[in-house]
Amino acid sequence: MSYSLPEFLAHAIALEREAAERYLELADMMESYRNDEVSQLFRDMVRYSNLHHDSIVERAKGIALPTLRSWQYRWRQPPEVGGDEAFDPGLNAYDALRYARENEVRARDYYAQAGAQSTDPEVKRLAAEFAAEEAEHVQALDDWLARTPRPSATWSHDPDRSATA
Ligand code: ZN
Repeated sequence: MSYSLPEFLAHAIALEREAAERYLELADMMESYRNDEVSQLFRDMVRYSNLHHDSIVERAKGIALPTLRSWQYRWRQPPEVGGDEAFDPGLNAYDALRYARENEVRARDYYAQAGAQSTDPEVKRLAAEFAAEEAEHVQALDDWLARTPRPSATWSHDPDRSATA
């Protein structure tokens, strides 16, 4: 679908807010495991998402934003998790990073697609900028994954969850 600028901004605000919420949960979880390094990474991601959220809200000032009826972009839960409200308490650092990466890839692709499909030049400009930011987040998570030991039991039973999206 082709987004108008108000529609695009409304989706971007919702996307960044959800990312901040999920990263906060991940950070708290890693802290409870005494994994301070990965917890700190997730807290940084909370900060980036909040900064991004606030700057989009600022950009949207004076623009009447639509209420989102359907929202295609949501963070996907790991397969072990039953409900929407909690992560698997057994999620280790490696899988948490991989899970975050998967959602960053989806955010990047979401922005890229929104920009490609829109005919509004300002939506195209902002979407390209946001997609580039998400690509940086994917890279940051890749860097962390490269130095995080891979646990023996991981999502290897699920062939879709390769680290090569
Ligand atoms: Zn991101």
